[in-house]
Amino acid sequence: MSATKEQRGECAWCGGDAIIGTTCPRSIECPQCGAFCGHPCKRPSGHRAPQLHMSRITEAERMDREHAPHGNLLDGWRAAR
Ligand SMILES: [Zn+2]
Ligand SMILES: [Zn+2]
Repeated sequence: MSATKEQRGECAWCGGDAIIGTTCPRSIECPQCGAFCGHPCKRPSGHRAPQLHMSRITEAERMDREHAPHGNLLDGWRAAR
């Protein structure tokens, strides 16, 4: 078995160094606060949250798991955080 080299590049959504083809949490709507694609998460009070909601990240991970070209993708994600 040959190990597939991951292709990384700058994420167009958050500017991070990400594996190409993976889902950026910012590229989906937040299921928790309803923030639109590309927008930061909001607190109920209307203030911008400094971090994305956990459920938004979990949802992006779930989508990656469905389309993942790499089996150990989530390990890479965790390590990068
Ligand atoms: Zn990103
Ligand atoms: Zn949110």
